[in-house]
Amino acid sequence: MTMRPCWVEIATQSLEDNYRFLLSIAAGDAEVLATVKADAYGHSLSLCAPAAVRAGARWLGVTSVEEAVEARALCPQARILIMSGCFPGEGAAALQRRLTAVAWEPWQLDELEAAARSVGAQPGSVPIHLEIDTGMSRQGVSPDGLPAALARFTAENPLRIEGVLTHLYAADETDGRATQEQLACLDEALIRIAAAGLQPEWLSAGASATLLNGEAAALANFARRWAMKAMLRPGLSLYGVAPKFEPNEPSAVAAARQRLKPVLTWKTRVVGVRAVPAGAVVGYNGAFVATEPMRLALLPVGYADGLDRRLGNRFSLLVRGQRAPLVGRISMDLAVLDVTEIDGVRAGDEVVILGSQGAETISASDHADAAGTIPWEVFTRIGARVRRVAV
Ligand SMILES: *Cc1c(COP(=O)(O)O)cnc(C)c1O
Repeated sequence: MTMRPCWVEIATQSLEDNYRFLLSIAAGDAEVLATVKADAYGHSLSLCAPAAVRAGARWLGVTSVEEAVEARALCPQARILIMSGCFPGEGAAALQRRLTAVAWEPWQLDELEAAARSVGAQPGSVPIHLEIDTGMSRQGVSPDGLPAALARFTAENPLRIEGVLTHLYAADETDGRATQEQLACLDEALIRIAAAGLQPEWLSAGASATLLNGEAAALANFARRWAMKAMLRPGLSLYGVAPKFEPNEPSAVAAARQRLKPVLTWKTRVVGVRAVPAGAVVGYNGAFVATEPMRLALLPVGYADGLDRRLGNRFSLLVRGQRAPLVGRISMDLAVLDVTEIDGVRAGDEVVILGSQGAETISASDHADAAGTIPWEVFTRIGARVRRVAV
């Protein structure tokens, strides 16, 4: 079936190259989990998870059991980490498909333990990753709550703490102070874990910002002091985008940014071009009024496809290798480009919403800046009805 021409092209080879690059800047024995949650940041799990595995990823990170079940069907051999934990009733499915849950709430551990016991799992045969709250106040056991949480991991418990995980909340702040405090807090937690006689294998911390900033080696050293191995969990960089650092970009990040290849290009095609006289109003509420005789191109893309409504009258897209301003409000399913200054635009012309055309590029960060958000949100808001095709 043919479809409305509003689609995303995914360069799976670029994703593979990005994964290998990230692996190359990780310290020797550090593991690099490929974060593919939220449909691979809107890039399509079914295209990206197998590509990451082809590039050598042994671990995939998703948010939920639903996403993990999909990832398992695509990648039978990969380890799959459920980064936002299981919900009631999901333990059995997680076990059956060999998924590895991050857990911190007592009820999550109860759920997994009950599921493991109900299938007669051997002691220590079901790995979980215990999350520690080292300062983000979101997920994780607080270091003070740890002794109670650890008490359940007796020798006969089918659950085993395979990994200790934490999330760094300000790895994109150049001074690194928050991260130092978080690692000090993690150290305290590891003292308690060791005191409980437990020896987890993985120390999982750090996402794109930590890895691109060349800090994988420090994390690997930190892990080694506890006879653990470091695992980093990059997401955004896997898709070719580097996080923005504040207040300034470290040189390691600037260098890494040059090496990353954007994976996603979002395209559409001109439906038709019309000439309007000076004074014509364009779109809802006449938010744009033609200042002169103009030529306007209609596009089949709107905010229901993820084109942020705030970009109306304040952003440009690419057609015939040139930037053309969006005029008037973005509608749910449609948008209008001013092509007065661009010769020859006609129905069927390809328009790049995000990506490169000729010498011009519009990045996810450009979209984010114009809409007052971050590239993560730009990617994940591209609508489900926009089909993803591998190129
Ligand atoms: C999303 C996520 C990541 C990936 O973060 P990026 O900044 O996209 O690299 C890593 N760890 C956890 C726990 C996450 O939720």
